[in-house]
Amino acid sequence: MNNLRIFKYCLINPGGGNSSAGFPGEKILKIGGLQKTSLLDYPEKISAIIFTQGCNFRCGYCHNPELVGLNRQDELIPESFIWEFLNKRRGILDGVVITGGEPCLQPDLADFIRKVKSMNFLVKLDTNGAFPDVVENLISENLVDYIAMDIKAPLEKYSCITNSYVDTTKIQKSINIILNSNIAYEFRTTVLKSLLSSEDIENIGKIIHSANRYYLQKFVETKILNPEIIPFPGKDQNYTEDELLNLLDMLRLNINIVDIR
Ligand code: SF4
Repeated sequence: MNNLRIFKYCLINPGGGNSSAGFPGEKILKIGGLQKTSLLDYPEKISAIIFTQGCNFRCGYCHNPELVGLNRQDELIPESFIWEFLNKRRGILDGVVITGGEPCLQPDLADFIRKVKSMNFLVKLDTNGAFPDVVENLISENLVDYIAMDIKAPLEKYSCITNSYVDTTKIQKSINIILNSNIAYEFRTTVLKSLLSSEDIENIGKIIHSANRYYLQKFVETKILNPEIIPFPGKDQNYTEDELLNLLDMLRLNINIVDIR
């Protein structure tokens, strides 16, 4: 997911909280953060970023630990604030990135996006792929224009990297839905050398075989969910540039465009 860079750029609790927000089952989007403008997060578009609250995974390297838990009800941004904000940004922003947390956890996601699109904004969805039915419905209803899906690990290491039970058939199903869709997409993996071996990355390349676009994202040491995953704090946790270039060469066997972020 996007790094909520970070709350100092975001509006938290602008309306004094949203104590009526319930979860799960209640029809309201839980919004934990808003970044008003980004030139980076939606390729070639100017976007705002909406960060939903709550995630089903617990990746140790998560840069948005504030967004992982479901219970931050007194710090949520009311939807009404978002509508007012977007209304003022018509003609200025191209699109809206919806990230998290995990947006597909939110029962109100499709309704929320419908309203965003009715304001003529493009929508990019960031997802961890654990909810293929939600992804499929959003695509079939033409509610998303771009999807970025995190590939955490080869399937057999998913639970280890996410510190969660993961039904990996759902991960593969999401991958297949995206691969077979007509919308723009990317897959991406945060790569720490201590967590993912070159063989792991090669195996990821196989599960997204024939994908158009895949990015290896360097780990940036900052506030994370579980600092204990870093074996040598303060030292670079990434592969060297030469090693990364070798990984890209290997991935190009299966994937059209691969790059490093
Ligand atoms: S999927 Fe992992 S990195 Fe993304 S928000 Fe959830 S815990 Fe954080």
